[in-house]
Amino acid sequence: MARHFNYLAIGAGSGGIASANRAAMRGASAAVIEAKAVGGTCVNVGCVPKKVMWYGAHIAEAIKYSADYGFKLDEQGFNWATLVKNREAYIERIHAGYKRGFANNGVEYIEGFARFVSANTVEVNGEQITADHITIATGGLPLIPNLPGAEHGIDSDGFFELTTQPEKVLVVGAGYIAVEIAGVLHALGSDSHLLIRHDRPLRDFDPDITDMLLERMSQDKLKLHKHTNVRQVVKNADGKLTVSCDNDIEFTDVDCLIWAIGRAPATANINLQAAGVTTDPQGFIRTDKYQNTNVKGIYAVGDITGEAQLTPVAIKAGRQLAERLFNPALPDAHMDYSLIPTVVFSHPPIGTIGLTEAQARQQYGDTNVKVYRSSFAAMYNAITSHRALSRFKLVCAGKDEKVVGLHGIGEGMDEVLQGFAVAMKMGATKADFDATVALHPTSAEEFVTMR
Ligand code: FAD
Ligand code: NDP
Repeated sequence: MARHFNYLAIGAGSGGIASANRAAMRGASAAVIEAKAVGGTCVNVGCVPKKVMWYGAHIAEAIKYSADYGFKLDEQGFNWATLVKNREAYIERIHAGYKRGFANNGVEYIEGFARFVSANTVEVNGEQITADHITIATGGLPLIPNLPGAEHGIDSDGFFELTTQPEKVLVVGAGYIAVEIAGVLHALGSDSHLLIRHDRPLRDFDPDITDMLLERMSQDKLKLHKHTNVRQVVKNADGKLTVSCDNDIEFTDVDCLIWAIGRAPATANINLQAAGVTTDPQGFIRTDKYQNTNVKGIYAVGDITGEAQLTPVAIKAGRQLAERLFNPALPDAHMDYSLIPTVVFSHPPIGTIGLTEAQARQQYGDTNVKVYRSSFAAMYNAITSHRALSRFKLVCAGKDEKVVGLHGIGEGMDEVLQGFAVAMKMGATKADFDATVALHPTSAEEFVTMR
């Protein structure tokens, strides 16, 4: 007889784990199936190892500018392998924490690759499992372009497998991952090149912010190659790569080429047809606001839905779904996809929420939009030879100047954003910002003192 659960999540990443735990907390019998490593992308090849590397880069930068703070350091070099070893040990501890969480909540953790057999049955390791409710939380996978020699490059998963530091590295792409990985490698001392197809990375972000990112990249001497498309990659006898581009630039003696050109939904081989679940042309499983797919009793959360591909979004969508299904007090629970704050761990970090200036002008009309900007030298680097600028921006709409967009690039912006996101969720206006007493001396105070 097939094992049966009230709730089954396919994929133990951010969304699957959060939803199964919450379902169990609300009294459901719950299980989660994972093909690779518990924690999914975020924990194993995403947010967590990335942020550890970013902290490493942060320390490298602090050492670089420490002389201006009076330190005379005898730097003995940087050991990539030590950082990687400590990072992976940390991830192991997170794995153990998740497994303890499952045990405490009574969630069954099943290792294996799940395939649908029918709308309420999946097969894993040859066993059939049935469930009243099944959530697809299989996430995404990095894309590799289709061009000669592309296989000689690695993707972000491969980046986290590097046990030695590449000397010369090309990062191709213009999104979060490309900017973050190129920034980390550069700060840690690799000869780093970022190759983008257009004139700037993060083209969806407010241009005031990306202008400053370009300025900071140029000041930090990260080698940015605009309007550069890779045409072919050749692996030489010495193992190094030659990378030719369509603007006739050729990179030689490349140790490592990293593709960071986006991610595709992980729907292949899961046999969605057997369940009758449909996807959009790219393979994303689109849902309504309750995470319902086109098939009753089958839901999707997280990256697989093609919505904001962020860990807290997958977690919140998963928890809200479990509340709706198993908490009679919350029959309408669902994720609110508006005003999602997001941070890019660039150098310095970028934080953004709400509308860009262009989006606000389009939505509200030019005369109804007022913009406030501040460019300033954060005290942290103002006293050093690295006198770099931060830039913050508020986009306000309507007579009451409701804050509809908040954007910043600068030291500390990653930690600054969360509180302002709460204020915006509550509908804060510029007058509310003005009425708030500043915290001094911080960068964050710029947001409440703009004229
Ligand atoms: P995932 O976490 O991808 O989990 C899906 C799981 O399903 C995987 O473990 C996979 O092995 C498993 N699976 C797939 N198919 C099957 C199957 N058939 N059977 C069983 N198991 C299966 N987000 C942030 O908010 N902040 C960040 O700083 C951040 N940094 C990132 C850095 C990188 C390099 C990357 C790649 C992503 C980053 N993200 C970040 C995005 C974040 O990792 C994802 O949004 C989040 O992990 C999505 O969670 P998920 O549950 O949808 O999918
Ligand atoms: P993104 O979708 O963010 O960016 C990929 C970009 O690469 C595209 O926008 C495009 O920019 C460029 N690109 C696409 N195809 C090619 C190509 N063939 N050659 C060169 N460049 C190309 O994808 P990422 O992989 O960076 O990240 C995926 C998602 O993961 C992010 O969107 C984000 O949601 C999440 N993430 C979040 C992080 C965080 O919260 N800090 C960190 C990392 C990831 P253009 O059109 O300008 O060329």
